[in-house]
Amino acid sequence: MISAHAGDFVWRAAGAIALATSRGERAKVVCLSYGERGESAKAWRAGRTLEEIKAIRREEAENAAAELGAEIEFLDAGDYPLVESQELVDRLVRVYRDVVPDVVLTHPLADPYNGDHPAAARMALQARVLAQAIGYEAPGEPLGAPPVFFFEPHQPEQCGFKPEVLLDITPVFDRKRKAMECLPAQQHMWDYYTDLARRRGVQLKRNAGPNLGLAHDTVAEAYMRLYPQVTDVLS
Ligand SMILES: [Zn+2]
Repeated sequence: MISAHAGDFVWRAAGAIALATSRGERAKVVCLSYGERGESAKAWRAGRTLEEIKAIRREEAENAAAELGAEIEFLDAGDYPLVESQELVDRLVRVYRDVVPDVVLTHPLADPYNGDHPAAARMALQARVLAQAIGYEAPGEPLGAPPVFFFEPHQPEQCGFKPEVLLDITPVFDRKRKAMECLPAQQHMWDYYTDLARRRGVQLKRNAGPNLGLAHDTVAEAYMRLYPQVTDVLS
């Protein structure tokens, strides 16, 4: 999971991460920045310095990752703006070669409210392709073709986001909520993303059919796919 800011993985994909770790799988979160300038308004208003804010956001994100059972790495590349560079892409290639992910989660490629999110996505995608190249000089074996899922942006309609995959996160939602509560710097988001999970849960039930016995309080996360699904059976 590659994200621009320290809090992004919690709001958008904590359920997917908790599901993976509850199955005993490894989950790694890479935060390109701490979201220190653009997503820490509360701390700025409280008169904190830039370095203090970075430390606060780092600790919060580490606590949230621990709640989800995920590893987390911060590249401290700065935000607002997150500047794309070949050096950052190379660092991501090394993460891919080290982790060898079965699945990649990142931001959608469009977000007219936040240029850092598409920048992170572009670098995540470029690094994935480079990591596949046998001739690219980085430790480890060339990467296979892990599917890429875009997680839901804050204003989905403006980002061209349409739920294509609805992931049932009901069994782990309490962990997602606890992870959200590790981020008091963005407390205004807790209820918003709880409500969104309920709304996506209603859509999940509707698309799963009315008679499958899904729990009444089903909650979900929505994703889009970048590449085609590969399968030998349609259903
Ligand atoms: Zn963000």
